[in-house]
Amino acid sequence: MFAEVVLTKTSSFLDKTYDYSIPATLLPSVKIGIKVEIPFGKRTTQGYVVGLKEESSVPGIKAILRIVDETVLFGPNVVSIARWLADYYHAFFLRALNLFLPPKGKAPITKNQISSNYQPPKFQLTQEQTAALNTIFRAIDENRPEVFLLHGVTGSGKTEVYLRAVEHLLLQGKSAITLEPEIGMTPQLIERFQERFGDNCVVLHSHLTLKERRAAWWRVAAGQGKIVLGTRLALFAPVKNLGLIVIDEEYENSYKSDMSPRYNTRDVAQKFGVPVVLGSATPAVETYYLADMGKYHKLVLSHRIDHRPLPPVTVVDMRRELAQKNFSMLSSELRDSLQETLARGEQAVLFINKRGYYTFVMCRECGKTLECPHCAASLIYSSQAAALACNYCGYSIKQPPLCPNCQSSLLKFFGGGTQKLEDEINKLFPQARILRVDQDSVKQRGSHEAIFHKFSRGEADILLGTQMVTKGLDLPKVTLVGVVAADGALYQPDFRAAERTFQLITQVAGRAGRHHLPGKVIVQSYNPSHYAIIAAAKHDYQQFYQQEIEQRREMIYPPFTNLISIIVEAASKKAGFEFAQDLARGIQGTVLGPIPATIARARGKWRFQILLKGVDPLGLQLPVPPTGINISLDVDPASLA
Ligand code: ADP
Ligand code: ZN
Ligand code: ZN
Repeated sequence: MFAEVVLTKTSSFLDKTYDYSIPATLLPSVKIGIKVEIPFGKRTTQGYVVGLKEESSVPGIKAILRIVDETVLFGPNVVSIARWLADYYHAFFLRALNLFLPPKGKAPITKNQISSNYQPPKFQLTQEQTAALNTIFRAIDENRPEVFLLHGVTGSGKTEVYLRAVEHLLLQGKSAITLEPEIGMTPQLIERFQERFGDNCVVLHSHLTLKERRAAWWRVAAGQGKIVLGTRLALFAPVKNLGLIVIDEEYENSYKSDMSPRYNTRDVAQKFGVPVVLGSATPAVETYYLADMGKYHKLVLSHRIDHRPLPPVTVVDMRRELAQKNFSMLSSELRDSLQETLARGEQAVLFINKRGYYTFVMCRECGKTLECPHCAASLIYSSQAAALACNYCGYSIKQPPLCPNCQSSLLKFFGGGTQKLEDEINKLFPQARILRVDQDSVKQRGSHEAIFHKFSRGEADILLGTQMVTKGLDLPKVTLVGVVAADGALYQPDFRAAERTFQLITQVAGRAGRHHLPGKVIVQSYNPSHYAIIAAAKHDYQQFYQQEIEQRREMIYPPFTNLISIIVEAASKKAGFEFAQDLARGIQGTVLGPIPATIARARGKWRFQILLKGVDPLGLQLPVPPTGINISLDVDPASLA
């Protein structure tokens, strides 16, 4: 017998597996997934066994020296998923395999914990919940790797469906993985799982300490935590007898890894051979398309629990506010509504897009942003160059003194943030208790949970913040939601800008009036006639989708093609650009660029971007760059900005 071994430490030229013979004495113990010691060149080193075979063609093959640890860390299924990850996302095999390996350090002793509860609440499931569940149960019972899109408006009882599906699974002794976009963004979901399943839940995410992560990993490996809850990294937990993967708010960007392998969780999950439930009120356009085509099984929850109405949405035209000399971030309508909400002792959630650092340029007279004539993407202002450029095709113009649309001189650079908003509200309502939640306020571990808890205990009147306030909150006293700058997401230089805008508005609007008190939503925009804003104001996914899918078809963007973004980095601008040009010429298919990347220079290196449309990543061969030049690949990029 022979073993295929991957070294535990690797470098670019060692990204492969090596064959070793297995001495007769070790034969019974050598299994896929264990760590062995092997001779390598003139030294000895360690590696993981990733394959076993009868024959090897390697001349003068060497033998495994000893077994370092008999613990089986992964099985053949993991090896094949890791291989796919490496091939598809152009990553080192070891990096892909590492996703599945335990956090560094000695395995802790896992105590046998007694699990509590399995008590479902008293209420009756709705007909739609029952129908969805019966369909999911069938796939679980038959262990059929079907993909479900659970499309339900906010507050329609999706989470309850996840809980019951998991409960069903547990009765069969199987395990489940439930993924959340960001821990802390959906604090209530975790509480509901823990209430229902007690010690059976294991929470895994990157905010845990190494020690906590290690304990969680080994508990799962010991077959004790049968319900893994967490962020994308929890997908790789060593669950025994996996029977279901749930991905909540599957459209979220945080499901795309920003490190090699740059995988998309929703695509990797489908390699595990079990049923997958993708749930959202605002599915990714690509996901909805696949469901429409019949590739995914669509399950619909069309109304809120108890037929509570979705809150009415008023779109405020901010150009009119300006015409009336209101230069505040709050329209008079939002200001008045805030006042009323505070007077009634109820709560408000205010959302403002945090990605203020890309300043887009908009005309205050006609409301148009400056766009690329070729790409339907906003032009990005670069203060250094005093120019506007397109991130897709490289088109660029000097900053015009007048609006090209209406010749007005009222061109304005936008980018107000949470802090500015907090100041304004403080001045307007000095009595109001405000909680701000954004990247700065949640830097400390766990502080986002603390903020949400404070708000849910009624210790604040206004929660204002970025994306983090848009989902997960299910609070009876929240009756007003304000979207302070709906345009922020709209003018991202990305073909998904309209989709993101629709998703953000719909999600945050869904926080209002979820219980007995009626809610209302105010959306402020300089472009109130944009289809994403109109559809979101009507809570109408279908209307949005129909328009969006036609645009994608016309402009040939996903789901009608796939994208690969290549970044070439080099210390020398000239060498980098020339290499990128050669690289682009060598690729068959639709190749856009090279152009200077959005971040044109980082850490002293010049960066160039090449965008491929319709090129199969599995067949793509790239040249090895000369020293001083780096290539990085993003297959199915989540954003192009
Ligand atoms: P979603 O995940 O779609 O936003 P949830 O599952 O959070 O919706 O449900 C919204 C609220 O309704 C929650 O407070 C939940 O406990 C409750 N709920 C869910 N299903 C039912 C039901 N069938 N009957 C009564 N209340 C329900
Ligand atoms: Zn204009
Ligand atoms: Zn362009």
